[in-house]
Amino acid sequence: MDTPDTLPCPCGSGRPLPACCGRYHAGELAGQAPDAEALMRSRYSAFVLDRLDYLLASWHPDTRPASIEPNEPGLRWLGLEVKRHQRQDADHATVEFVARSKLGGRAHRLHEVSRFERIDGRWYYLDGDLSRSR
Ligand SMILES: [Zn+2]
Repeated sequence: MDTPDTLPCPCGSGRPLPACCGRYHAGELAGQAPDAEALMRSRYSAFVLDRLDYLLASWHPDTRPASIEPNEPGLRWLGLEVKRHQRQDADHATVEFVARSKLGGRAHRLHEVSRFERIDGRWYYLDGDLSRSR
């Protein structure tokens, strides 16, 4: 079995987890993703790895849920594709992405435009609009 040190990052960057999103999950750079895309990628990886603590911590205080359900047993995340990263101003950005998963033999495709806000130098996930496009 792969140890976390050799695991390729779930976000698909091709880098090992500790050199990619793992840096923002824990350790020196915990919670300090440098921009909205890095935060988005680290949140996707956190979904894959069931790091619910990180998902809550990186959620904007105004929209943060009280708790997050862990992944359903058998759910497999297949990959993340970041389509667009747009900065509106110094503290606001949007990221459009597609995340693919599979559960019980059925494929799911989540296409979302997410909004991010920076507060006191830290980026947070605010909310998102699901796209129905195929
Ligand atoms: Zn990553």
